[in-house]
Amino acid sequence: MANITLATPVQYLPKVGEKRAQQLAKLGIFRVYDLLTFFPRRYDDWADCVPMASLKHDEEGSFIAKVVTPPRVSRNRGRTTIFATLSDGTCSIRAIWFNQPYLESKIVAGEEFFFHGKITRDGFQFQVTNPVFDQRQKEEKMPSMIQPVYPLTSGLKQGHIRAIVNSALDHALPLLSEVLPLFFRKEQKLCTITYAYEKIHRPQSMEEIDIARKYLVFEELFLLRAALSVYKQEQQNLRAAFPIVGSAEMREQFKEVGKNLPFQLTEDQMNVVGQILQDISKTHPMNRLVQGDVGSGKTVVALLAMEACALAGYQSIFMAPTAVLATQHYQTFQKLLGDRNPGCDLLLGSTTAKEKKEIRARLASGETKILVGTHAVLAEENVLPKLALMVTDEQHRFGVKQRSATDERSDHGIHTLVMSATPIPRTLGLVLFGDMDVSVIHAMPKGRMPIKTFRTSSEEDGRVMATIRKEVADGHQVYIVCPMIDELQEDAYEDEEGTLANSMKQDLESAVGYYEMLKDGPLAGMNVGLLHGKMKPKEKDAIMKEFIEGRIDVLVSTTVIEVGVDNPNATIMLIRNAERFGLSTLHQLRGRIGRGQLHAACILHTDHYDGVSQERIDMMCQTTDGFQLAEKDMLLRGTGDFFGTKQHGLPQLKVANLYRDAVYLPPIEEAIDRMFREDPTLKGTQAKIMVSAFRDHFGDAWEKPSL
Ligand code: ADP
Ligand code: MG
Repeated sequence: MANITLATPVQYLPKVGEKRAQQLAKLGIFRVYDLLTFFPRRYDDWADCVPMASLKHDEEGSFIAKVVTPPRVSRNRGRTTIFATLSDGTCSIRAIWFNQPYLESKIVAGEEFFFHGKITRDGFQFQVTNPVFDQRQKEEKMPSMIQPVYPLTSGLKQGHIRAIVNSALDHALPLLSEVLPLFFRKEQKLCTITYAYEKIHRPQSMEEIDIARKYLVFEELFLLRAALSVYKQEQQNLRAAFPIVGSAEMREQFKEVGKNLPFQLTEDQMNVVGQILQDISKTHPMNRLVQGDVGSGKTVVALLAMEACALAGYQSIFMAPTAVLATQHYQTFQKLLGDRNPGCDLLLGSTTAKEKKEIRARLASGETKILVGTHAVLAEENVLPKLALMVTDEQHRFGVKQRSATDERSDHGIHTLVMSATPIPRTLGLVLFGDMDVSVIHAMPKGRMPIKTFRTSSEEDGRVMATIRKEVADGHQVYIVCPMIDELQEDAYEDEEGTLANSMKQDLESAVGYYEMLKDGPLAGMNVGLLHGKMKPKEKDAIMKEFIEGRIDVLVSTTVIEVGVDNPNATIMLIRNAERFGLSTLHQLRGRIGRGQLHAACILHTDHYDGVSQERIDMMCQTTDGFQLAEKDMLLRGTGDFFGTKQHGLPQLKVANLYRDAVYLPPIEEAIDRMFREDPTLKGTQAKIMVSAFRDHFGDAWEKPSL
């Protein structure tokens, strides 16, 4: 077919056809462009192969060998282990694969494969663990010793997909126009787009892969960031449903509101309230993120914004990720609003039909000005004729859909306020919140006692328990967090580390086991509660409620403790096996305590105080500043996606990694600024190419920008 474009369905490529197209669709490949961006999972460098006799103990090795006999499979308690004997004529080696049952049919006796994996050779055994392997295609001439390895789906072999990608490249490479501005490519020493897409699939050397990948990372981040800028610009042109223009009288009333709070707002809180009031008085909708560490006092800021709307006669929604949180916020609002209450209702999934009906009537009549709740608030039956403001609490707990929930509710824009406790380093924020205005609450309210953080080992368990008993005797409460709930989850470790994990998991305790041990042992006589992810939401809610109300003294749990739950009476948190948690998680967990005027302590228990976990634990003991911890986390982890795009309602990235590649963001930011300065309406050729590339790259996954 002559007229192949990037948007042509893959079916029309030579070598594809209808059946193959269906298989490709399972891999998310529909158009020719999708094949270009179907990046190899890894590369096998056949040039690295050595005779098996020279494979070294405790190193990664590559070799070519024949499978001697059919693989043997053993299944035990839902776990699969595959064994095979491999030989290259000089000697033989045992191969072992954990928990990859689907490999059985691929390991064919008598066939020759390329293997790569971790070698054990200690006199007793000669073994390769979880090796990757690849077959030399008979008909395929190997143009390069480096073979791309793609993700597969049933019926589609490595050889097929390689041939199809090759065919796509032959047709599509000449069609690519440079997406990145020339000045930017020069400045960052990036290769051309054609080189990048060719070499990521057909490299002759590992260096070529690096050059290509660098370009692709820049391209992807650039496109995403640019799209967010465009989206933000468009927002400015949208009309707000209700600009909240305060009369002089309203402003006076609002001042009274501030005076009636039980505490004095911090300077940061006042500034943010000011920014919000300015935003919502404009004719285009606000889209603002309020970032503030746990406990910095974001709730009251949101409440004041909603009160301002209520004073002007408009309605607001406050949405929280769980019923426990929504209920707690509702109660806080009731308390803080007192006599000024302009009409506030709580709507949960579990609210009875009768109550829902009554609430809906009050919403429709405008009697209710503030609606607090979970996702249930988004139900179509809830009609708020004067809805002006939508607040989302703890935004990263919501998905893509909620991020644009307000957009769906109406065609005129509603002011949006998002509250987040995730301390996102500024550089990442530029991407994750590129379409929003960001306010930061830096300082904590005055009078807050700093949380002390200590490290302990199992030897000190007795002293730790004595501290907990004393704290409970003083009328305070305690959190104990354990890494996992029971043995069921442990498979996760075996996948990666094989047999090694078996020995490790013995010393990892489960929340359930630890709870049983404590309540009849060191903490006998106290009210000990248990909370974990396998409990039903209703059970979890009930336990959380008992804890907040003080009927549970010590709560043993996994990481499921609600983000944002406020129990000022909880003064101690013991985190068992702290080395198992990332810095962000440790910080989020610690944020559950020290929320009142009481001394609070966080005890990090670990018997593995070395390497990265040592650095993490030291960091935790040194600072409570979430932003500092987040920067450190980024350095320590290199990969990982606590700050992933998906949690923030953005499309998933294909090559770039926000952690690893964060250093590229500032120059990208500058380049985009320059582009917008030079071509503000994006009418130039370069801008048009960029817009169409964005559509190709993210289009289906993210239809938000109406570029
Ligand atoms: P977060 O930012 O984590 O959502 P909250 O809004 O729940 O924090 O506030 C934590 C606690 O601090 C609450 O008990 C709240 O009443 C209190 N608080 C908020 N602002 C102030 C202030 N300016 N002074 C004293 N206490 C405050
Ligand atoms: Mg909160």
